[in-house]
Amino acid sequence: MTIEKLSDLGEFGLIRRLQQQAGGREDLVRGIGDDCAIQRQDSARELLTSTDLLIEGVHFDRRWTGMEPLGRKCVAVNISDIAAMGGVPKTLFLGVACPPTISVAELEQFTHGFLAEAQKYGAVLAGGDTCASPGPLMISVTVQGDIACGKALCRDGAGAGEAIYVSGTLGDSALALTLLQAGKGPDPQLLSRHLTPAARVDLGRQLSDRQLATAMLDISDGLLSDLGHILAASGLGAELELAALPLSGPFSKVLREDPTLIDLALAGGEDYELLFTSPRQDLARAAGLVPTVTRIGNIVPREGLQIRCRDNSLYHCSRKGFDHFS
Ligand code: ADP
Ligand code: MG
Repeated sequence: MTIEKLSDLGEFGLIRRLQQQAGGREDLVRGIGDDCAIQRQDSARELLTSTDLLIEGVHFDRRWTGMEPLGRKCVAVNISDIAAMGGVPKTLFLGVACPPTISVAELEQFTHGFLAEAQKYGAVLAGGDTCASPGPLMISVTVQGDIACGKALCRDGAGAGEAIYVSGTLGDSALALTLLQAGKGPDPQLLSRHLTPAARVDLGRQLSDRQLATAMLDISDGLLSDLGHILAASGLGAELELAALPLSGPFSKVLREDPTLIDLALAGGEDYELLFTSPRQDLARAAGLVPTVTRIGNIVPREGLQIRCRDNSLYHCSRKGFDHFS
């Protein structure tokens, strides 16, 4: 008998198995498989819930991550999943496993950042769990939010011929991390995108309220990997235009020195920007969303994801999106 390895199954293969085994219930509109679970509350509202783990050495490195920014980031990346459905964040739950090396002052800095960030989004810390960790600092954050019934933007709503949009700029966080890992000091704008990302709650709410998008998620694992989730859920393919990717000034500057770094915008991850589809090709301008969102390609009826260069040749990204087990 061959022993199945986690690295062969992959993070998403494992999640797919859980999805097949989990079962459902009548009030559970969506279970495993989207940015949040959706539960019907009454005839008007639905409850959105998402949970994230942040493990020292996997998700953050205390050598360059201060405890206050870490507290902020834990909230923002979790609330980003509420933004990805178009919902309103309400309540947070915080689990902390503390290693013996951490001081009370450091934990207080963390809490300060966490609560300040929660307040920024109008969310309140309502519970959690605290324990000791024999190894790394481990943080678990759960967020609940709400949305009007039927308004949540899911991953399976894309249609053939629709335009693909992304908010903000791509690759900044991954470039900052790459530079930090190489012992270099990134530009402050890149660094803040990595250490203290923002959740695009207002944009997400606008898109759901005004019914401007058909499918949406937030980019946590990289554009290609996360677009792949929309394509798989919607049973379609996509064509992206490499030259259309929105890049920041500091990113473009580093890119001029090393053009291969474009792969960080395609597959770097931790962008926490919203990626969505819309039947409207002129949406950004028509809906007053310039320069917040950029059209980067189209959904196509055949399967697969292709990236086109300016001269119409195909581009091959050498990076894979983030998978915890590969
Ligand atoms: P995101 O990047 O948006 O946070 P993930 O890729 O982490 O989403 O998860 C995809 C889906 O799988 C989500 O619906 C999430 O709730 C679910 N999921 C992930 N891990 C587990 C698990 N261990 N048990 C149940 N559901 C899980
Ligand atoms: Mg998400």
